[in-house]
Amino acid sequence: MAYEEITALLGGWEGFELVRVERIPASPTQPAPQILLTLRPVSTHATRCSGCGEIVAERHDVAERRVRDLPILEAETWLVVPRARLRCPRCGPTVEAVPWLDRYQRMTTRLAEAIARLAQVLPIKHVAQWFGVGWETVKQIDKRALGARLGPVDLTDVRVIAMDEFAIQRGHRYATVVVEVPHKRVLWVGRGHRREDVRAFFTLLGPAGCARLEAVAMDMSAAFFEEVRAHCPHVAIVYDLFHIVAKYGREVIDRVRVDETNRIAQARGRWNSPTRDRRRVIKGARWLLLRNKAHLTRPADRVRLRDLLAANRALFTVYVLKDDLKQLWQYRYPAAARRFWTAWYRRAVASRLPPLVRFAKNLAPRIEQIISHCRYPLHTSLLEGINNKIKVLKRMAYGYRDDAYFFLKIRAAFPGIP
Ligand SMILES: [Zn+2]
Repeated sequence: MAYEEITALLGGWEGFELVRVERIPASPTQPAPQILLTLRPVSTHATRCSGCGEIVAERHDVAERRVRDLPILEAETWLVVPRARLRCPRCGPTVEAVPWLDRYQRMTTRLAEAIARLAQVLPIKHVAQWFGVGWETVKQIDKRALGARLGPVDLTDVRVIAMDEFAIQRGHRYATVVVEVPHKRVLWVGRGHRREDVRAFFTLLGPAGCARLEAVAMDMSAAFFEEVRAHCPHVAIVYDLFHIVAKYGREVIDRVRVDETNRIAQARGRWNSPTRDRRRVIKGARWLLLRNKAHLTRPADRVRLRDLLAANRALFTVYVLKDDLKQLWQYRYPAAARRFWTAWYRRAVASRLPPLVRFAKNLAPRIEQIISHCRYPLHTSLLEGINNKIKVLKRMAYGYRDDAYFFLKIRAAFPGIP
């Protein structure tokens, strides 16, 4: 009676009944206690072929298999299940269909589902430890569940997208992610970041989808630009603030900081120890200069930044021009944005700081792609957020082992908001 009650509570094993329950206590080789449940087929249950699903009378033989189920009261739980091999008149030799066994037959469907649920929020390693199963098993279950849940992507009403590249493995390999902007939905992730690598997305989108597209946000990479132009000559291309400010940090602020450090180093001897102090201040200030000012919450950091800028005109100039450049993305009227740009450009050239002048002249021919942001505003946090999420997923070690799985994880992280 107790067995039947427990069986019913657990959800049971369709077509089988419980004949024995054993508890194997923990031992030096087996640190957790185990529960062993022996099952036998219910006599009235018809045997079905796992190939065609039809009832098959003839059994070839029966072999006992050990199958994992959900843990019972923290104890690792194993089932001993007699599995019949059949001679199906339609399929030939097959095994009996057992509806509650997972496709790989080494565990129950409900255990596989529990693993897949936990793998949505925890690193594989932790899920594997929790259930006492292998890393590879958890990965395969999660990958299959993600594939089934996400399915083929729906591209029927895609109008504004953003494209971005990211490094898969310390800059050795790259991939590209395509996001539908209004719904924050990842549409596509593919290997590589060259023109031909992203072509697959536009092929998937098809001619009608390409014609429907209105705007594409991207960084200043020529590869994306050319490929979008080839498929969708009519779309507005929008350069986003996140990438341009990052580029400004690398090409202007970093450069000026190094130039200034060197200039002060050369001036040593003429001046003395105060110079060395100034040099050290600039040299250690990379973080301070590249950080968004609003994020400097410690008063000491704000004071340091102020002193640093006061001591150095060049750094002060590039720093102020960075803040002003960001304002270009605030405009909603193209004419006003153009006026602001012209003024910014004049100041950049007038600074006579070579990295800043170079940056401004480089940007000038592409200013229409920034102005188009007035019509297609893209929230800065979108690409930044996706970038950060990808970094987190990479740290959880999905990254370099299996690209297809990694890409599914990225899609699952941005399923879209209605
Ligand atoms: Zn069959």
